[in-house]
Amino acid sequence: MTKAPTEVTARACANIALAKYWGKADAKKNIPAVPSISLTLDQLVTETRVRFDTELAEDDVRLDGRRATADEKDRVVKMLNSIRREAGLRARAHVASHNYFPTAAGLASSASGFAALAASASAAAGLRSSPRRLSALARASSVSAARSIFGGFVELPAGVRGQGDLHARPIAAPDHWKVRLVIAVTEPGPKKVGSTEGMERSKKTSPYYDAWVADAPKWARQIKRAIKERDLDTLGVAMERSTFAFHCCAMTSEPAILYWAPATLAALGTVRGLRERGVSTWATMDAGPHVKALCGIGDAARVRQALDRTPGVTRTWVAKPGPAVEVHS
Ligand code: ADP
Repeated sequence: MTKAPTEVTARACANIALAKYWGKADAKKNIPAVPSISLTLDQLVTETRVRFDTELAEDDVRLDGRRATADEKDRVVKMLNSIRREAGLRARAHVASHNYFPTAAGLASSASGFAALAASASAAAGLRSSPRRLSALARASSVSAARSIFGGFVELPAGVRGQGDLHARPIAAPDHWKVRLVIAVTEPGPKKVGSTEGMERSKKTSPYYDAWVADAPKWARQIKRAIKERDLDTLGVAMERSTFAFHCCAMTSEPAILYWAPATLAALGTVRGLRERGVSTWATMDAGPHVKALCGIGDAARVRQALDRTPGVTRTWVAKPGPAVEVHS
């Protein structure tokens, strides 16, 4: 069903995978080979404004106040084309997006970016898409973006080749559990190997890829149960294993993908040291050098202070469970 096109802004939060995603069952349709579970983060926000304009000769895409590069624009145009097909629209669009945190640095800007784009562009095209439909649309551009459509704790099942409607679904609302994620930035600048390229290389060359795909569902099940029971230690153990298993796949690819910086090890040591002193905090990392420590609300200040003091850590944030994507006309 469509209504008159208009200018729409959407706000989406990035998410951290607690059960990690690494590997595609279908690269063309962007279908994950493993289930993932995430926490949407209130501190890592993208805002995207979209307006379709019949006077425009081609899509005009701006990212953080500058013209998007050809690659960045291609990814955006691909999603716009799919929305235009669904809405029966020919007009090109003005897209202006702002990430209120570093882009392409291993902090999941693609997740909040494509979730915000899916919601704003669909609404601007007059579509009244359900959250599930938006999630499937976002997933086609970035697997982790499928999860950022929802707030709180979210799961995305593994899919099979050709499963174009695969979408994420919420497990628990943001207020279900007062956990905090302390993000420690260990190296400035963009990550060296993009996630899509990295996971394809792992699939083709790592001798441990099949073992990762076989074991990932077990950690996802443990993490889902731990979320429901608010059991931080069980969640933490499974999350660290999931993290190190996927990094093992990356490291054993040919050529090797080493996302770690010296400060990564230092920050992991800080988290482990805190645990040895009785603080229940657990680390995870994405396809990048940064370390993210999950803890209870009461320990967040202490964990942040310890990470701030870790040599090589340049910045920290404390994020809490964030909301679902929001749309404003
Ligand atoms: P990250 O860890 O930040 O997700 P990736 O390399 O996986 O890093 O993804 C970054 C890419 O996602 C960018 O190069 C760009 O193509 C796209 N992207 C990031 N933010 C946005 C946004 N707000 N709108 C549209 N595309 C975005």
